[in-house]
Amino acid sequence: FDMFVLAFVERVLRPTYKKDDIVLGKKLGEGSFGVVYRASLAKKPSSRDGDLVLKKATEYGAVEIWMNERVRRACANSCADFMYGFLESSAKKGAEYWLIWKFEGEATLADLLQSKEFPYNVEAMILGENQDLPKGLERENRIIQTVMRQLLFALDGLHSTGIVHRDIKPQNIIFSEDSRTFKIIDLGAAADLRVGINYIPKEFLLDPRYAAPEQYIMSTQTPSAPSAPVATALSPVLWQLNLPDRFDIYSAGLIFLQMAFPGLRSDSALIQFNRQLKRCDYDLIEWRKTVESRASPDLRRGFELLDLDGGVGWELLKSMVRYKARQRISAKTALAHPYFDKEGLLALSFMQ
Ligand code: ADP
Ligand code: MG
Repeated sequence: FDMFVLAFVERVLRPTYKKDDIVLGKKLGEGSFGVVYRASLAKKPSSRDGDLVLKKATEYGAVEIWMNERVRRACANSCADFMYGFLESSAKKGAEYWLIWKFEGEATLADLLQSKEFPYNVEAMILGENQDLPKGLERENRIIQTVMRQLLFALDGLHSTGIVHRDIKPQNIIFSEDSRTFKIIDLGAAADLRVGINYIPKEFLLDPRYAAPEQYIMSTQTPSAPSAPVATALSPVLWQLNLPDRFDIYSAGLIFLQMAFPGLRSDSALIQFNRQLKRCDYDLIEWRKTVESRASPDLRRGFELLDLDGGVGWELLKSMVRYKARQRISAKTALAHPYFDKEGLLALSFMQ
């Protein structure tokens, strides 16, 4: 059996859906390229709001379907479970792409980060109950380490498949209640560089809060229309040369930073941090010097957490948030970093 045959058989056997099969529930979000709803199947109405998620997308939905199909076959555990995508044309609205996923859970990492309980709320979700352990830096560090490991694992899957996400942020990381892990969502801005599908509409701006300093992650032609992706056959050699995956690593580094420093979790604080870091020429060591002298107790606590175990956390953060893409660590190398040497959360629960 070769991969092509397997993919074809899987595609044919998988259930397909059409508009009338789906019942809409409450709205979950609205971006510039689509609206997202909770939904369920008409034949099989389930729990209050339904166990599916539906995105009605503009023409860019074609690329998002392509990315989700690819992820399904190559690295299914990295992202929310994609079920089906199709083109829905109506006289009134014109062409609309409908994308269906399994509903993974209520909470994104953004929701969890905004709570005063973070990171203990995450621990409770991963372990399924509140642990009767003394609160403190050590324990918080273990929880944050577990989230980072899951995020880097998901990113490694995408990057090994040749996909760069380009919009990694807490809002696009969902906690999957079934697998009790974080998964990546929203492949609307993703690029598949191995086949050259790399369409960024002109009006699309990368989220400035989490974007790495480089504007263009790869100098390559973009197809003129997303509905007609042209295979430009980019070689893995080009990937090696440009290291476009390191764009996501920078964003993941900022998420690590926000988990360690409660004071940097709000949008305004993150924007201010970005300004400060730019003023320090993107040198985290320099930034630390300028803020540490007049550091608030909150900032000092963040540094204390990252300095645990000989400063392995701080070391990992520095290797992710760097100006030059090629100096940033890859997801795969990061997973082997000494920061992850200590057992994570699950081991902690087995010790009980
Ligand atoms: P956009 O950001 O383009 O509006 P997303 O794909 O990020 O679209 O989805 C919007 C929101 O919908 C997410 O932030 C999340 O809260 C929710 N969501 C998306 N996919 C899922 C899913 N598979 N399971 C649960 N919630 C989801
Ligand atoms: Mg999103």
